[in-house]
Amino acid sequence: MKLVLLGAPGAGKGTQAKKLIEKFGIPQISTGDLLRAAVAAETELGVQAKSFMDQGELVPDSVVLGMVEERLNQDDCQQGYILDGFPRNTVQAEALDDMLQSLGMDLDMALSVDVPLEDLMKRLTGRRTCRECGQMYNIYFSPPAEEGRCDKCGGELFQRDDDREETISKRLEVYNRQTAPLIDYYREKDILKSVNGTGGIDEIFANVLSTLGL
Ligand code: AMP
Repeated sequence: MKLVLLGAPGAGKGTQAKKLIEKFGIPQISTGDLLRAAVAAETELGVQAKSFMDQGELVPDSVVLGMVEERLNQDDCQQGYILDGFPRNTVQAEALDDMLQSLGMDLDMALSVDVPLEDLMKRLTGRRTCRECGQMYNIYFSPPAEEGRCDKCGGELFQRDDDREETISKRLEVYNRQTAPLIDYYREKDILKSVNGTGGIDEIFANVLSTLGL
């Protein structure tokens, strides 16, 4: 399975990607996670990326493309992968096509997770992530049993810096302007499918599986 997950910030791409990797054992390549790891490790790339991320802007294509290419070349990607949060604009989508062509790989599908704009704000402001295992929660829709603690591993839950209200509207604007056009990009290639991203996590996952024909 070689899949691109499309959708606005807060649409639940990361949550569904994590469920797909649990079920199928293929890697999730999340450029957001890779960038956050670089920021936390204070690498040169991370320092460069942080100011863009904090403002809700896209990190320059050259930075992201290098990271993805390196990741796609690793052995665990040869059987399949889920690209989550990449590509984010047409330049990245075209560069991905070139990269895959040179690796002799084809995308099977671009799956768009559709959520109405009015739901996205609550999803983003309510989002919390476990510092230890990456499990995600939402304080409104799927809260942990104990406030601030992960149900799975007891780790501390944190709010992403860019999930604060001031940055969120910028991220949604960047999505509409730069990323949403990719829906047409993949429709024209005849590999686009859409799934309704509203409802419970398991209900959405059932929709995802049936849309993928699994
Ligand atoms: P995400 O976790 O996918 O919402 O990404 C968080 C932030 O990381 C975004 O708001 C961007 O600043 C940056 N980012 C993630 N993926 C990309 C990408 N493919 N291209 C450019 N910037 C990205």
